[in-house]
Amino acid sequence: MRAAAYPAGSLAPEKINRIPTRGEGSSPEERLIEVIRSVWPVQDSVAAIGVALPGPIEQATGTLVRAPNIPEFSNFPVRDLLFRHFRVPVAVGNDANLAALGEWQYGAGRGHKHLLYLTVSTGIGSGVIIDGQLLEGARGFAPELGHTTIMVDGPLCGCGQRGHLEALAAGPAIARWAQEEIARGAPSSLPANQNLTALQVSQAAQNGDALALAAFHRGAYFLGIGIANFLHAFNPTIIVLGGGVSASYHLFAEQLQQSVRQHLMSPDFFDQLTFATAQLGDDTGLMGSLAYARRLAPE
Ligand SMILES: [Zn+2]
Repeated sequence: MRAAAYPAGSLAPEKINRIPTRGEGSSPEERLIEVIRSVWPVQDSVAAIGVALPGPIEQATGTLVRAPNIPEFSNFPVRDLLFRHFRVPVAVGNDANLAALGEWQYGAGRGHKHLLYLTVSTGIGSGVIIDGQLLEGARGFAPELGHTTIMVDGPLCGCGQRGHLEALAAGPAIARWAQEEIARGAPSSLPANQNLTALQVSQAAQNGDALALAAFHRGAYFLGIGIANFLHAFNPTIIVLGGGVSASYHLFAEQLQQSVRQHLMSPDFFDQLTFATAQLGDDTGLMGSLAYARRLAPE
């Protein structure tokens, strides 16, 4: 987990600190408090705290409902806990939603009023800005576009359902398809009988491996179907792609855009659309939290 202190009006952190979520002698909860305390300004007062967390956040209470990768954080009342400790307003949001907000305010999406953000890595996270507002839904759980059904009875998704976008187009799906094709005898520079990662497949694709490239193009085809659905729903002017898989965007940009066009009801949804890759990198969570917290503490 990372924490940074941003002075009023500034985008350059005064202090920044990073600690592992788990460590001996303290719980993730204690470590969260510890990392915030470690960047607390000595002289200035603090206007608000913003927190980005990997799971659905119940907005009414600021509770992290589920955290698949940090079981200790399930049903975790983050906002109450941090308010009790620090006595300043606390804004808690889902990490993909806040990444969308960060890219919109400080990154690739500046100047747009309607933005769709997708982070494609081990899963597919999403965030949507509509008319200059972050879309969160009634309880704060929207949008979960990675769990849109693309293929009925398709491959199993991490959430337990089948055929979701994430199960077809995220990094593990790309790697698994390449692995299965190699097991079937397809020629490739990638090793057989090994659990491949999307990064390995990406490196092979960069080096011209046709099978590795086909794996990315297949993922891009499904991602394009998803994006066409989302264009119909939200009609954004920009799509910002983040996450590890997006680092290989140049390998599949053409196939992605072709698949989007192929699945649209009308080219009108594509005509004034910009595709961009995320600009904030590792800082996306911090910058998103900053944007979210500043809504509580207008300058
Ligand atoms: Zn799913």
